[in-house]
Amino acid sequence: MLARTTLLWLALLIATAAAETVPACWAPSELSYRRGDERVQRGMTQARIAAPKRTLAEYSPVVPRGAIRRVQLPPGKKLVALTFDLCEQPFETSGYQGGIVDVLRSHGIKATFFMGGKWMLSHRERTQQLMSDPMFEVANHTWEHRNLRLMSGQALVEEIRNAQLAYEQVREELQAKQCTGPQGNALAHEQAPRRLGLMRFPYGACSPAALNEVAQQGLVPIQWDVSSGDPTVGLSEQGIQGQVLSNVAPGSIVLFHANGRGWHTQGALPGIIAGLKARGYEFATVSELLAAGEPVTSPTCYDSRPGDADRWPFRHPTPVAAAPSGFFWPWQSVTHRR
Ligand SMILES: [Zn+2]
Repeated sequence: MLARTTLLWLALLIATAAAETVPACWAPSELSYRRGDERVQRGMTQARIAAPKRTLAEYSPVVPRGAIRRVQLPPGKKLVALTFDLCEQPFETSGYQGGIVDVLRSHGIKATFFMGGKWMLSHRERTQQLMSDPMFEVANHTWEHRNLRLMSGQALVEEIRNAQLAYEQVREELQAKQCTGPQGNALAHEQAPRRLGLMRFPYGACSPAALNEVAQQGLVPIQWDVSSGDPTVGLSEQGIQGQVLSNVAPGSIVLFHANGRGWHTQGALPGIIAGLKARGYEFATVSELLAAGEPVTSPTCYDSRPGDADRWPFRHPTPVAAAPSGFFWPWQSVTHRR
C-alpha cells in the first residue's frame, strides 16, 4: 500500500515537472545555416517596412565623445572583438549568413552583431536567436543603413531611434513565446538586454550632429580599427585572413559582414580564429572589451567626403586619435575615473 502511494506521488511529481518544463525556442537545426538565407534580394520597392509604433524603453543620454575605434588595454592583456554587420538598405532584403554564426558557435567565439532595424524585422527569428545567445552581443546599425553624415533633424533622429524600436519590438515578440534560448535553460528574452546600448554608423560616416544625436539617444558609437575588407567581392579567404591577422593588435575591433555581403568571411574565419589564438588572443564582445580598458576615439568620423553618396564599398577609417583625458563611461564605477 505504502509502495503504491509512493509510486502515485512520484508519477504526480514527474507530471508536474513535465508541465513546468519550458520548451526550447529552436531545435538545433533551426539555429544553423539554412540554404538560401544568405541571398540578398535587391531592387524591391516592397522591401520597405514601416518602423514599429511603440514607446521606447527608458534610457539616459550619454556624453558625446567621438566614435570608438579600439580599446587601450592594460599591458599583457590580449583581447579582440570580432564584429559582424547586418546591414539592410531601403529597397532590399539582405541576407543572413548562418554559416558564419555556426563557425562562431562551434568554436565558442564571442562576437558582436550590429543589426539594421529593418534587417531585424525582415529576419525576426534570426534576430531573436542572436539576441538571446549569451555568446553574442547585439547592437544598433541604424534603421535603413543611411549615411548619417548627410542627415539632420527628425530624419536623423528616426534613423537611429527606429532601430531601437525594432529591437524592442522583436524582443517583446520573443518574450511572448516563453521558451529557452540557444544556450542554457533561461528564458530566451531574459538573456536579451532590454535595449541596445551600442551603435555603428553605416559607411563609418558621421558628423558632429550625428555623434550628438547618438549620445542623446543613450548610445555609444563603435567603429573599428581593423577592416576585414570582406564586402570586396574579389578579396579571397587568404586575403581576408592576411588583412585581419596582420593588423589586429590588443584591443582591436574587427569589422566583418554577415548579411550576404561577407563574400569569403565564413571560409576565412577558422584560420583567423586559429591565428589569433596562436598569438594568445581571447575573444570578447565589444562591451567586454570596453570594460577591460580605455576606449580610443576619433573626435570625428569623416570616413567619406562631403557629397559622397550612400554606397558600397566601405571606406577605411580615418587615423585614430587618443581619447581626451578624463574620459570615462557612465557604467564604470567612479574608481575607474582618472
Ligand atoms: Zn553596414
